[in-house]
Amino acid sequence: MNALASPGFRRAIRERLAPLCYHEGEVNRCPQCQNKGWHVGRVTAECSHCDHPLPLAQATITGAPAEQDAAHQ
Ligand SMILES: [Zn+2]
Repeated sequence: MNALASPGFRRAIRERLAPLCYHEGEVNRCPQCQNKGWHVGRVTAECSHCDHPLPLAQATITGAPAEQDAAHQ
């Protein structure tokens, strides 16, 4: 069971978090404090100033297809 694939989580991203994703290689400003420094993890990035978390844009895009490929083999 993948929590990232649940309908509720996808809806939450679409309605609230989609415009606020961390984009690797770009300047990402914290929505709370406008800080530009981040601690980047595997699926989220946390603001280095206030610890506000953002989902990684790449993780939400590339997560599902990789699992489908693994299931076919
Ligand atoms: Zn912040």
